[in-house]
Amino acid sequence: MTDNHWLIRGAKLLGRHAADVRVSDGRYAQIGNGLAAEGATVVDAQGLVLLPGLVDLHTHLREPGREDAETVLSGTQAAARGGYTAVCAMANSQPVADTAGVVEQVWRLGQEAGYADVQPIGAVSIGLQGETMAELGTMNASKAHVRMFSDDGHCVSDPQLMRRALEYVKTFDGLIAQHAEEPRLTQGAQMHEGELSSRLGLAGWPAVAEEAIIARDVLLADYVGSRVHFCHVSTAGSVDIIAAAKRKGINVTAEVCPHHLLLTDERVASYDPVFKVNPPLRESSDVAALRTALAEGIIDAVATDHAPHAEQDKTCEWAHARPGMLGLETALSITVEALGGPDNVDWDIVAERCSRTPARIAGLDDHGHDPEVGQQANFTLIDPTTTWTVVPDELSSIARNTPFAGLNLPCTVQATFLRGEATVLDGKLTDRSQETA
Ligand SMILES: [Zn+2]
Repeated sequence: MTDNHWLIRGAKLLGRHAADVRVSDGRYAQIGNGLAAEGATVVDAQGLVLLPGLVDLHTHLREPGREDAETVLSGTQAAARGGYTAVCAMANSQPVADTAGVVEQVWRLGQEAGYADVQPIGAVSIGLQGETMAELGTMNASKAHVRMFSDDGHCVSDPQLMRRALEYVKTFDGLIAQHAEEPRLTQGAQMHEGELSSRLGLAGWPAVAEEAIIARDVLLADYVGSRVHFCHVSTAGSVDIIAAAKRKGINVTAEVCPHHLLLTDERVASYDPVFKVNPPLRESSDVAALRTALAEGIIDAVATDHAPHAEQDKTCEWAHARPGMLGLETALSITVEALGGPDNVDWDIVAERCSRTPARIAGLDDHGHDPEVGQQANFTLIDPTTTWTVVPDELSSIARNTPFAGLNLPCTVQATFLRGEATVLDGKLTDRSQETA
């Protein structure tokens, strides 16, 4: 049954003052103190922090094509449990999301699942081949209303293709999200290039392969007057380039992934493929630079790069394992940890980096709003006083490749609401199946 009326009692809005929030028919209806419960289901939220529903700019949902690793349903359930109300689905499905048909399919699957809004990202090039531009305009005009395009997994390394794509999306205020990796500098790469890669004898993925593309694309975006977004920024040098671009007023945005805020290349010494990711885990000086850049806003957003993989693709030799890690259910906890821990974190910065700014970058007008009467009620309730231990089998994702297994993390998501309806309540998924019957 659909519950249309809720009274959220005593939540600390954005971690500040406590208030009651009444939600009716999908929207915030009343915000104040001592609100009457009449006709509403009451959620006791004393001590909980209310944030706008989180928005992920970078999710691999694997459907269509690799439903043995994740589906739109399981992925959005993981998202809801992580506090997310919207996710942007990367284009490297099978088939690739490079046509109106595929992006509409992914969008519709998200609607049917009902756990989070799914905004498909379209491919920049046909088949992610980096050669011929896909029909960006057709995808934009489709029901999925695609505004962000990315060949993620691959870099748009051809500067002429990148230039044309940047020019093309200007016509509908679109955005290219670049996986910055100069492919000729990373051939055969297995881990971050540095002292440890030499010691382990593994081929290195040098920081300059990322930085060279970021520098190039900053210049291209400036030259054609378009905007560019950088996926999963992983090095201190990239931060410097982005900071310089912003000082010059160039229209660039950037995201960082939780794993790059917490883990270093030292993990690779275990040869456990769960730590294999692209771009790779870097050095502690990079981690420190990324944390500072996130706190200061040089990096605009946290994005998960949630990358589920089937067991056979991860429990094999390091060299043969697919790169990528789960992220949706652990991102909030790790972000809070990276921004100072639950006692010191500025919740407004968490809201900014994990909800408002990513919603604005992706053009998701219904998301990223603070509680305000009349606004769509997309929010999450977090308990900052609790901790939890990551147990892979307890995650909602079908895949199990979390690099955080066994780790004790701060903050639990107690509830998530999408358009005024609970997707998570008391820390558990609600049954959304009737919504789509
Ligand atoms: Zn990528």
